[in-house]
Amino acid sequence: MKLSERVAIVTGAGRGIGAAIARKLAENGAKVALVDINENDLKARVEEIEKNGGTAKYFLCDVSDWEQVNQTVEQVNKLWGKIDILVNNAGITKDNLILRMTPEDWDAVMRVNLKGAFLFTKAVVRPMMRNKYGKIVNISSVVGIFGNAGQANYSASKAGLLGFTKSVAKEFAKKGVRCNAVAPGFIETDMTKSLPEDVKNTFINNTPLGYPGSPDDVANVVVFLCSPESDYITGEIIRVDGGMAM
Ligand code: NAP
Repeated sequence: MKLSERVAIVTGAGRGIGAAIARKLAENGAKVALVDINENDLKARVEEIEKNGGTAKYFLCDVSDWEQVNQTVEQVNKLWGKIDILVNNAGITKDNLILRMTPEDWDAVMRVNLKGAFLFTKAVVRPMMRNKYGKIVNISSVVGIFGNAGQANYSASKAGLLGFTKSVAKEFAKKGVRCNAVAPGFIETDMTKSLPEDVKNTFINNTPLGYPGSPDDVANVVVFLCSPESDYITGEIIRVDGGMAM
């Protein structure tokens, strides 16, 4: 197994893409700490992983709260002795046109999507540096590359993640810590289920492959970026978008 003996933290792992990432990391032998703010979802995901023979524990934690993040990382470190992998996946949308977007909606999206990734990265890099090894994967979005009307806050947070990814990659390369980003296109999850039909159709019409991706499509690439097979890759952005942002 590609990831046996590895310890991973996945944020926003209660459902959607994060849940698929947690499951696939566990299938590849990693011990996985699932982080989310929804306890029922977390419990269900851990049970599924354990039923399949994997090792997982859940941690209730709001990624935008430094105290909670720090405490979670300490608990994982105490439980499994190290942290090798961090996947910053937790994300929210609060879509609106700029004229109608409230400052609160701007802040909320930045807090979870961008500050959350910073806080978790800040908390794990020390244990990673101690072991001279680490893999950090940030889940960005194609709209962080090409922007989107009605998603200024979300696009800015996802574009911010790309700059953050490259900065982390440069800052910690000599310490054995790699940092990459995945930019999904239109993926079928609860987040996209609630979009109006015309918006969904526009996304699909702009996808050369002509169909939405699945959480597993994203998770497969994340597993690659967390495995030794990608050890010479850092600061990279991999689109998983059916060609949308080509
Ligand atoms: P999702 O189905 O809405 O799941 C997001 C998860 O993050 C939920 O379990 C949610 O918990 C959790 N979460 C929200 N705020 C949190 C916080 N403050 N602390 C900890 N966990 C929190 O979303 P998804 O579609 O799987 O998206 C996952 C990631 O991929 C996001 O970063 C998203 O921006 C990105 N992405 C998605 C798509 C797509 O088409 N779906 C495309 C590009 C990028 P609750 O259940 O309590 O809300």
